[in-house]
Amino acid sequence: MWAKIKYSVSFGHGASCARVFLLLLAFLCGCKDKTDRAVPVEPNIASDEIIRVLLLDDANKCTVILKGAAQISDTNSPLAILPFEPDNSLLITADPNNTYINGNPFTAKKINLHIILPGTFTLENEYRGDLLIIRSDNGSFDLINSITLESYLAGVVGAEMPPYWESAALDTQSIVARTYCLYIKKRFGTNRHWDVRATQSHQVYRGILAESVPVWQSIRRTLGTVLVCENGKDRYDIFPAYYSSICGGHTEDSKNVFGDSFAPLNGVECPYCFKSAKPKFYFWPVAYYSLAEVTKKLMARYPQLEPLEQICDITVTQKTDYGNFARLTMIKLHGTDDKTDFIRGEDFRLCLDPSGTILKSAICEISVDGDKLIFTSGRGFGHGVGLCQCGAEAMARNGKTAQEILNYYFPHSKTINIHEQ
Ligand SMILES: [Zn+2]
Repeated sequence: MWAKIKYSVSFGHGASCARVFLLLLAFLCGCKDKTDRAVPVEPNIASDEIIRVLLLDDANKCTVILKGAAQISDTNSPLAILPFEPDNSLLITADPNNTYINGNPFTAKKINLHIILPGTFTLENEYRGDLLIIRSDNGSFDLINSITLESYLAGVVGAEMPPYWESAALDTQSIVARTYCLYIKKRFGTNRHWDVRATQSHQVYRGILAESVPVWQSIRRTLGTVLVCENGKDRYDIFPAYYSSICGGHTEDSKNVFGDSFAPLNGVECPYCFKSAKPKFYFWPVAYYSLAEVTKKLMARYPQLEPLEQICDITVTQKTDYGNFARLTMIKLHGTDDKTDFIRGEDFRLCLDPSGTILKSAICEISVDGDKLIFTSGRGFGHGVGLCQCGAEAMARNGKTAQEILNYYFPHSKTINIHEQ
C-alpha cells in the first residue's frame, strides 16, 4: 500500500487551480505516429488482477509518447490542462521536490496517468494499461506499467516463446508465466510499489510488440489457469513456476539454484529438448575469462568478497551429477593468502556474463590454466529449473497436451482456475 502523501501542486502556464481529485487531460492524436502499426485488439477479458511492471528504474529523465487520451491524477491535484506538445510526447523529469511533466511541476510523489482506451503509450515499446510515475526522495523516479494480468501475459508469452510454436507449448507457457507472476506479486509485491520487472530477471515483457493472434488465443484458452502445489495439509497454493530455454537433459532442483524448495521443482529427466533445440543452442562453445577479470566482476557484484583480494583459483564443491553431464551448483573461490569463500554456480555464471549469451548455463566443466578460467563441455541454455521450453515444444509436437506437459515438468502440482475459487 502506498502511504498517503500530503502535497500541493502548482502549475505554470496560467493553468486553473480549482481543487478537485482528478486532473483530466484529453489530447487527441493530432500528428502522425511514426510507429503506427496494426495493433491486435485486446480481447474483452474480465480480470480485476492488476500487475505493476517496473519499466524504468531510478530514472532522471525520459520521454513517453501517448497515443490517444490520458487522465492524470495524483489524489489531490487541481484541475488543469497541461500544455502538452503537439506530438503528444511527455518529457518527464524530477528533482527531490517535484516531478515535472513537460515542465509542469507536481509535488505528489505518485502520479497516475490513466490511459483512456483504446489509447496506449510508448516508452521503449508500446504498452497497454496505465503509467505510474513514483518519485523517490533523491529526485529520481520509477516508471511502472499498471496493467491487467491477462494483457500483461500477452506481452510476456510472445516475448518468451516464438508465437509459431505448437499451441500446447504456448498454453503451457501462458499457464507457467501466469503462475510465476502471481507468485512474485504475492511474495514481494506488498513490500514495494511494483510487482515484477520487465526483464529476464523476472519475465521478459515487451508489451504490444510481443502480442499476436496465437498468443492471445492461448491467453484465452488458459484464462485464469495457474499451477498450485500442496502447501500444508490439504492446502494448495501457487509456487514460483520457473522456466528456462533448454535444460540440457535434466531440469534442476530449485534449491540448488534459487535456494527455495517446492515439490514440483525437484527436477526431472528431460530427453525432449535435445530433439527440438538446434545443436548450436543445445551445446555452447569453450569460453575463457582471465582471473583478473573474474576478480573484478565478482568484487563489483559482491563487495562482501573483497577480503579475498585476488582470485587465484576456482574449484567446484557441489554439482548435480546426471551421469554424462553435471550442473555446477557451488563454487569455491580461493583468494590471496589462502582465504576462501563460496558462491552458487548459477550466481557465478551470471556474475561473469549477466546476459547469459556466452556462459549459457551452469552445465559445464571449469578449470584454471595459469591466469585463465576455462569453461568447457557447456550444454543447455538458462538456469534449468522448472519448465524446459524447448522440451515443452518437443512434447507438443508429439501430441502432448499442455496439461500433460505441465504434469511432466511440475510433478506433484495441479492446475486450478483463479476465477473459480
Ligand atoms: Zn530439456
